[in-house]
Amino acid sequence: MSRYVNAYRLFVEADLAAGRTVACTPAQANYLRNVLRLGPGDAILAFNGRDGEWRAEVAEVGRRNTGVIVRSQTRAQAGGPDIDYLFAPLKRARLDYMIEKATEMGVKRLRPVLTRRTVAERLNLERMRAHTIEAAEQCGILRLPEISAPEKLERVVATWDASRPLVFCDEDGAEHCPFTALAMIEPGPVAVLVGPEGGFEPAERELLSSQPFVTRISLGPRILRADTAAVAALALVNAVLGDWR
Ligand code: SAH
Repeated sequence: MSRYVNAYRLFVEADLAAGRTVACTPAQANYLRNVLRLGPGDAILAFNGRDGEWRAEVAEVGRRNTGVIVRSQTRAQAGGPDIDYLFAPLKRARLDYMIEKATEMGVKRLRPVLTRRTVAERLNLERMRAHTIEAAEQCGILRLPEISAPEKLERVVATWDASRPLVFCDEDGAEHCPFTALAMIEPGPVAVLVGPEGGFEPAERELLSSQPFVTRISLGPRILRADTAAVAALALVNAVLGDWR
């Protein structure tokens, strides 16, 4: 069994069950063979976001293809904290980073929110999904975050499910100590909102602050970049309300 502890974790789309053979995509095959230098019989772990995690062996599939033979389950499918992460899309590299970090923090759902100062090119949801998969392979979570279609902030607020408290990270909320503010929230479904690089406009901050389901928090006396704010806020929320408790 120890042979699997450091085994590479491979995300596959196919259903997983003992005895099944799953073909790799060309990119996966290339990675297994040429980067990890694995060959037939070598052990890896496979997961698909639905069926838990499985021991599997690298195998030849057909004449030229690489795949894996699924052996036995190592972990049952697991959920994670019920945290929705709402964010204004950022430019490429920072967005990639933010998606990776939010996935590592175990969020349930990624919700891009369009604000007045959002400056992002067209949002590539496929690219976002690829980053969640890469992060999941690396950090060991079995549930991939869902990715929602982008929505305007006003609409998000107008259609909000009030049973999910929304933690609004506000750099002008100096008096809102995050521990005190988060401790007022019952553990359960929660959402976290971080704004764009240029911040929220005053009218947006007012709209948010006036909602009964919104809790403002400060992330300290320094202005953080949005991708840093994401990590800081999700760490706090996980520690007080999520699965770090
Ligand atoms: N308005 C700022 C920059 C916004 S930083 C300016 O241009 O000067 C991007 C986002 O990160 C903000 O919208 C906020 O959600 C979050 N953020 C950054 N620093 C923060 C802090 N100290 N406390 C709470 N949220 C912060």
